[in-house]
Amino acid sequence: MKKLLLCLLWTGALLCLSGCRNAPSAAPNLAPFSPVPTETCCLLSCGNNTFKLHPDKQYALFNATPVQLPAPAAYGKEKCYRVTPGTLKNIIAPLLTGKVSPRKIRRILIDPGHGGHDSGALGRTSREKELNLLLAAEIRAALNKAGFQTVMTREQDVFLPLRDRVKLVKKYQADLFVSVHHNSSKIRPDASGIECFAYRCPRPEDTLLAASVQQALVRTTKCADRGVKFARLAVLRENPAPAVLIEAGFISNRTDEKFLNDPKWRETAARAVAEGIAAFSRLAGTEFPPEPALP
Ligand SMILES: [Zn+2]
Repeated sequence: MKKLLLCLLWTGALLCLSGCRNAPSAAPNLAPFSPVPTETCCLLSCGNNTFKLHPDKQYALFNATPVQLPAPAAYGKEKCYRVTPGTLKNIIAPLLTGKVSPRKIRRILIDPGHGGHDSGALGRTSREKELNLLLAAEIRAALNKAGFQTVMTREQDVFLPLRDRVKLVKKYQADLFVSVHHNSSKIRPDASGIECFAYRCPRPEDTLLAASVQQALVRTTKCADRGVKFARLAVLRENPAPAVLIEAGFISNRTDEKFLNDPKWRETAARAVAEGIAAFSRLAGTEFPPEPALP
């Protein structure tokens, strides 16, 4: 009887140990965000914000916003969630905490993509370079109304090399850069919705800016949420200011093209962009409305 009892206790201890070994866990550097790991996801949280990682998936979820990670969240044989230190520092932490190094956002450089001989994407009735300019002008008006100063990389149908657009940030002493584009897909004519890009190796402020603008745009326009993405885009690379590139809808989609050409829709979307930039500015510690810059 004593032998049987010992045997049962020993088996129970082994089962417990093996159970612990198999339970999903999270790498120690995720600890500040109270990770709750399961087989299907790892939930991180801070205040009211949540960030959900999925095993070996490059897509995460910040609150309700999809975020495309530069590398998938690793979930290996040891059943442990890991992300790169860069992903944690430059994407997850700024989104969850809403904290970036303090800065004053007063003057904004708006960059309507393409122009001149570069038409950008082509729809059935419209050219991207023209839609970019029209939406950028509305964004300028909305930002001015919100108390920001604004400058444009182009106000006419002219071509401007990508490098020169970034150089204008220093020339105009701009505090933030927003590039305005419209999307297109040849292989998926039904592709629809809005996405915001930060540079592939983002700084915390780039991530927070892209998420703030994306959330405001989707909330206001009710368009499909294609999320925050990271890419090697020339106007975002080596940009001295926090920088975001907006893809405001698919010119290749019949329905999207219709509302992208509607002045009322553009006004609504522009207001949302201004709200997103204002939200980012507040998080970055800019007093609001922003104090006027010296002439
Ligand atoms: Zn474009």
